[in-house]
Amino acid sequence: MTDLKRRQLMGLMGATAVAIPVSAVIGTLPSHADDTPMVDPSTPQATALQYIEMSDKGEQKCSSCTLYQGAADSEAGPCPLFPGNNVTAAGWCSAYVPRA
Ligand code: SF4
Repeated sequence: MTDLKRRQLMGLMGATAVAIPVSAVIGTLPSHADDTPMVDPSTPQATALQYIEMSDKGEQKCSSCTLYQGAADSEAGPCPLFPGNNVTAAGWCSAYVPRA
């Protein structure tokens, strides 16, 4: 690569970096906040499954249920029985299945 081409390339890279607004870059970063609504324990599905936000079943909690899809250290996460909502990691329902 000639020195002139290298300088042209560096100039182009600098112009590109300036042309991309910082907000556009920030907007592409993953969000740490989960806006997924929590399960309402009073809904028909939740009451049918006896869902509670705070387990009273000892070690049986959503966080130890095989259906829980939240991260290991999460306070809430998805469960396929409540699509579009999160359950609390400390919650429980009658469909609880312990992780193997
Ligand atoms: S099946 Fe029930 S206990 Fe298991 S994660 Fe879903 S809500 Fe929690």
